Amino acid sequence: MTPWVRASLQDLDTVRSDLLVIGGGITGAGIARDAALRGIRVALVEARDFGSGTSSRSSRLIHGGLRYLEQGRLHLVLESLRERALLLRLAPHLVRPLPFVLPFFRGDRVPGWKARLGLILYDLLAGRGNVRRHQTLGKRGLLEIEPLLRERGLTGGALYHDAQCDDARLTLAVARAAGSAGALLANYTRVLALRIEGGRVAGARVRDELAGGETEIRARVVVNATGPWCDAIRQLEDPAAVPVLRPTKGAHLVVPRSRVGNRHAIIFTSPLDGRVMFILPWEAWTYIGTTDTDAPPVPERAAADQADILYLLRSANAVFPAARLSEEDVVATWAGLRPLLAADPTVPASRISREHRIVAGPAGMLTIAGGKLTTFRPMAREVVDQVARLLGSRPAAGRSLSASVPLPGGEARVLDTFRNPGLELGLPEATVDYLVRQYGAEVPALYALCRQQVELKDPLHPDHAAIGAQVVFAVQRELACTAEDVLERRTRLALETRDRGAAARAGVERLLSAERRLS
Ligand code: FAD
Repeated sequence: MTPWVRASLQDLDTVRSDLLVIGGGITGAGIARDAALRGIRVALVEARDFGSGTSSRSSRLIHGGLRYLEQGRLHLVLESLRERALLLRLAPHLVRPLPFVLPFFRGDRVPGWKARLGLILYDLLAGRGNVRRHQTLGKRGLLEIEPLLRERGLTGGALYHDAQCDDARLTLAVARAAGSAGALLANYTRVLALRIEGGRVAGARVRDELAGGETEIRARVVVNATGPWCDAIRQLEDPAAVPVLRPTKGAHLVVPRSRVGNRHAIIFTSPLDGRVMFILPWEAWTYIGTTDTDAPPVPERAAADQADILYLLRSANAVFPAARLSEEDVVATWAGLRPLLAADPTVPASRISREHRIVAGPAGMLTIAGGKLTTFRPMAREVVDQVARLLGSRPAAGRSLSASVPLPGGEARVLDTFRNPGLELGLPEATVDYLVRQYGAEVPALYALCRQQVELKDPLHPDHAAIGAQVVFAVQRELACTAEDVLERRTRLALETRDRGAAARAGVERLLSAERRLS
């Protein structure tokens, strides 16, 4: 089976897998990739699209987490900084260095001296993999590099580096890497029940959410990697299972960058409640996030509400007062549930652990709960080490190779060489830059599509760089099934246009159905 084809119910039924992974977010995709790279026969099933859960609703940072230093979680910061360095190498097109400004204001909850000490430690922990050492600046120096910051109470600040990624495309790249290494990938395939044999979990009953129909997948080990849904899957094994998660909701909003005027990413404490917040540049947009409140009982219902929007706007206006952002500036919003480990109910939401835990159920299913986008790879390695022990010695299940094999598109470190062929095709410079950033070393495949069918060079939307070739590529190689998959996660048109991608929808649907007729 080619790595880029969605596995059918028949494929899932006939192939006997060593490992079934439930959940196609970054955690499940990471586990499938690690396992497949070790030679374990693995099937990955996802109820909707890859990355459609929390993994496309993050702040998109690949970071050590400066604020975790404040909580004394040095191990988590150290591990995350190591991963940051590694992911910058494995997927340079998707994970990019991001300069951050940390302003110091009089009366901040975290005083300037403490923030400076934190940054020294952050650089030390990053070691040789550091992006760049931080720099402290006086008030004037800071305003020179970030002129629209609030002057009142500003005493100075610092410039340091972390990294940013497209979370949905990173998840997709990891899932595709699993497919290339031999995993069966099935999005829109929901687990309905677990298959129990001799008191052990030995697979699952699944439904094809697009075509209908059900089948049973048999597997020697089952891993539940369903993030905020993981307790619901655990209860299929043990209806009395006590929840391991206490998810919290985090919301973001998108405004035009020109309305804020930030030149860098900004990390600051909200004057409203002292929480750490971000103002993040992304192309022509600025993301403002996040909130951290108790989650709705049904994860699918997580959405930014009026209170979230007002909180985010007011916090951002406090640091960029000239912006006077209002609800009319909001282009899009998103919210996700952090799969945080349950803790003492008296602990405030923003202090719950971000670390992960692997739990074995009474019938042998492994559940991975918690974690971060940044640390998906070591989490996956730890899970697959346990899977390998359960499977015994049959598969070549020794060392994890996930640190050395690049992600799709990450095979070339220098991306500039991919620009000229695009310009020679007559694509506008902004489109070429956008495509190279999204597809890295895979961009020649998009150029080839444009050569075969010249209309595929046409933009999908009058206000966005995305082109028709991306839809064809999304179907042929990225397991896109619906217009939402393309608009929300393959191109991000839904978040980066004022009409949420509506002007592109008909064109996307036309290209999707033409591709389906051919396949
Ligand atoms: P998910 O991505 O939610 O995946 C679980 C999947 O399981 C879903 O796709 C779901 O459809 C599927 N599923 C559910 N039920 C079934 C079923 N019955 N059958 C099959 N599939 C099923 N981390 C960082 O490192 N950096 C950040 O900047 C960052 N920012 C964040 C900001 C916010 C607001 C939030 C909420 C989180 C943030 N995180 C960040 C954390 C990070 O996003 C999550 O830890 C990570 O995405 C969780 O991935 P996951 O695969 O465990 O869960």
